[in-house]
Amino acid sequence: MYICTVSNQKGGVGKTTTTHNLGMVLARKKRVLLIDLDAQGNLTDACGISQSDLHGSTYEVLGGGKSLAEVILPLNSQIDLLPATRDLAVAELAFASKLGRENLLKKAMRGADYDFVLIDCPPGLGLLTVNALSAANGVLIPVQAEYYALAGLDLIQETMREVVENLNPGLHVLGILLTFFDGRKSLNRDVANGLRERWGNLVFKTAIRDNVALAEAPSNGQSIFDYRSQSYGAQDYTALAKEFALRVKKL
Ligand code: ADP
Ligand code: MG
Repeated sequence: MYICTVSNQKGGVGKTTTTHNLGMVLARKKRVLLIDLDAQGNLTDACGISQSDLHGSTYEVLGGGKSLAEVILPLNSQIDLLPATRDLAVAELAFASKLGRENLLKKAMRGADYDFVLIDCPPGLGLLTVNALSAANGVLIPVQAEYYALAGLDLIQETMREVVENLNPGLHVLGILLTFFDGRKSLNRDVANGLRERWGNLVFKTAIRDNVALAEAPSNGQSIFDYRSQSYGAQDYTALAKEFALRVKKL
């Protein structure tokens, strides 16, 4: 089982979109679990799950009130979702004085049996993100091809360093993913070159192009493959999944 957390302290960089669509491609061949760790529940919504479908949420699973098995919902025969509700917004406070608070997710996932687990993190580097980093094997960092992207990476790297020292020595960066990419914009090309200079092969060859279908699909509760299977978005996430699976295999 390879657990990958999709993290970046910035919001709106494509974490949720990546978790959802990468997961859907991987699930064509493998068993996948998606975890919504964001109180906004964007991933849960994007998967077409409504609040009335739920028998619990990530919050209860982290708190120990319910088991993972009780709460997960199948999206199809190969892929399950651990859904989030607004409750999760109080998690940082509610769990702040709990013993083992950084390892709640890891503990909740004991016994889970999947080929891939993808964790959709909230923006920020608080307790929930630390739980995701602590439970994961690797981190996929989506970055929007813009001026501040490089500086932003230092921040998450610092948090990762602390997690490696204190909680999860095996944690590594699986890859950095350019999102909202528009090769016609010189700023986008410059940022891509800057990232590749600094991070080399860790930057995925696949960049996710700026594609309006990717922005439209979630409001229909659909992945890009159900919404527009021929779109750039569908092509790019298919290419990413190939690269992702190869990278994990080589570890
Ligand atoms: P995050 O989870 O990091 O906050 P999201 O995945 O929710 O980011 O993406 C932010 C918004 O941008 C969403 O409305 C999403 O549908 C849209 N979006 C994501 N990726 C793309 C893309 N490559 N091109 C166009 N729109 C995108
Ligand atoms: Mg999100």
